[in-house]
Amino acid sequence: MYDIGIVGGGTAGMTAAIYGQRAGKRTVIIEGGSFGGQITSSPNVENYPGIASVSGSEFSMNLLDQAVKLGAETEVEMVTGIRDENGTKIIETTGKEYPCRSVILATGVTHRHLGVPNEERLTGAGVSYCATCDGAFFRGRDVAVIGGGSTALQDAEFLANYCSKVYLVHRRDEFRGEESIVRRLREKENVEFVLSATVKEILGDTVVEGVLLNNKKTGEEFEIKVAGVFIAVGQIPQNEKFSDIVKLDSSGFILASEDCVTSHPGIYAAGDCRTKEVRQLTTAAADGAVAALAACKYTAQ
Ligand code: NAP
Repeated sequence: MYDIGIVGGGTAGMTAAIYGQRAGKRTVIIEGGSFGGQITSSPNVENYPGIASVSGSEFSMNLLDQAVKLGAETEVEMVTGIRDENGTKIIETTGKEYPCRSVILATGVTHRHLGVPNEERLTGAGVSYCATCDGAFFRGRDVAVIGGGSTALQDAEFLANYCSKVYLVHRRDEFRGEESIVRRLREKENVEFVLSATVKEILGDTVVEGVLLNNKKTGEEFEIKVAGVFIAVGQIPQNEKFSDIVKLDSSGFILASEDCVTSHPGIYAAGDCRTKEVRQLTTAAADGAVAALAACKYTAQ
């Protein structure tokens, strides 16, 4: 029996494990993919207090190392659901069951797709959702980044180091992401902003050859020739498998406020997977601490 079962090994989940272990609780982090969460695809994190600059992968590996050294157990398994048996929460995975006194859901979010023709078919053949992972394949080529948030801006900045040209395609005139990165991008000769433009179709037979765009102001359609399309249009939660035990909002985020308390006693939600205004690394870490301390209190009852 674990005191705290943590579903998801991103920043929120690993922070929760650190707080749980330091409070003397037996914790397990169950992760379906690889530890680290979304931040691992950030080439450079510059807004985490106390660390001027660090790569997302180094940050998350340090976090995992810290949690494991404190005694947190880790499992790589796909969680399929949670049931409550007389107050004991059973985390169900494809292979095993983990009985826990309390549970922290820190499932994060996944990449939103554009939903345009050829996007799925050309994924891996020029369409990518991770510039850090795939950018190097496009050295010396022209690419497009789609989106206007911090991820898209960071991706464009990162790709400008490899690619001959980076088109940053955004559906509005103003960016949602950090202004400091926008300023840096404006100074780069190989970055071109394509604003008020939406993607109609990704072009290409066996590999990406271009993107068909629509100018929202004039209605004009035009093509840009690129070998890669990096899609960074936000994130969506994946909490359906928990919908029978905790309440979700209409977008699929777990209903929980700053105290991380969900609709089910003893189950907490931390980080990007819950309803919240600000989804940042700092707020994910903060949630991990809040949820873990609440779980510690619950298990002491
Ligand atoms: P985001 O902030 O939600 O931005 C998504 C962008 O995609 C927006 O510009 C949005 O346009 C656009 N978009 C959404 N759906 C679209 C569609 N169907 N077609 C075209 N464009 C579409 O997502 P994000 O950039 O992934 O960032 C997620 C969170 O992580 C944010 O809170 C961000 O600040 C944070 N983040 C932090 C760091 C860091 O700490 N260093 C790095 C990256 C991200 P509109 O603007 O018109 O809505």
